[in-house]
Amino acid sequence: MEKNQAYLLNLLDYNSTNIEELRAYAEENDVPIVDRMTLEMIKQIIRIHKPTKILEIGTAIGYSSMQFAAINPQIQVTTIERNEQMQAQASSNFERYNFQQQIHMIQGDALEQFDTVKNQTFDMIFIDAAKAQSKKFFELYTPLLKQNGVVITDNILYHDFVADIDVVRNRNIKQMVKKIQKYNEWLIQNDSFTTNFLNIDDGLAISIKGE
Ligand code: SAM
Repeated sequence: MEKNQAYLLNLLDYNSTNIEELRAYAEENDVPIVDRMTLEMIKQIIRIHKPTKILEIGTAIGYSSMQFAAINPQIQVTTIERNEQMQAQASSNFERYNFQQQIHMIQGDALEQFDTVKNQTFDMIFIDAAKAQSKKFFELYTPLLKQNGVVITDNILYHDFVADIDVVRNRNIKQMVKKIQKYNEWLIQNDSFTTNFLNIDDGLAISIKGE
């Protein structure tokens, strides 16, 4: 690991919550959860922007939704997950860490669950599900985002492949990486949002509606 990254990650250990213990579980069981530096960046955006209603696409074991909810008891997180095993683990984690009042999980494919939330509005959307689908999630759910609301998309540099697609041999991964490239180009040219990309961890896009 790069030295600066290792140094900063060590510093962050001084500031850990008990939810952080799930990271070891996720690593052991190959559950992809948001990287630590990225998480801290998003948490800081939440402290600055102060969203009270957050929509997350991709719950996995509930790690990021609990980290967001833990910032402030006013925060309500709606999170969508399609995998039944993940749903069960997330539910038990929400109970174990006592977040049932703040986090509402929708069980199903996010591409089919729009109607479940269509009467709500959100201050922030975190897109962290199937990486080839980020554009579809963005188009489907951002009509529910308030003006000046923030969309955060994780993994926009996917394993260093997005900047260097020629090294990818696997056809399926290549297809996905191409979609991420298209998504990034579409995002930066989207006149309804102002987007900034960050080169931390697996790459992060921060888009603000209407700025
Ligand atoms: N946000 C989580 C965290 O940081 O703790 C990690 C989410 S993980 C990277 C992605 C999750 O999205 C997986 O659990 C996967 O089952 C789920 N997923 C993928 N495509 C989905 C879809 N179309 N609808 C709902 N969930 C989806």
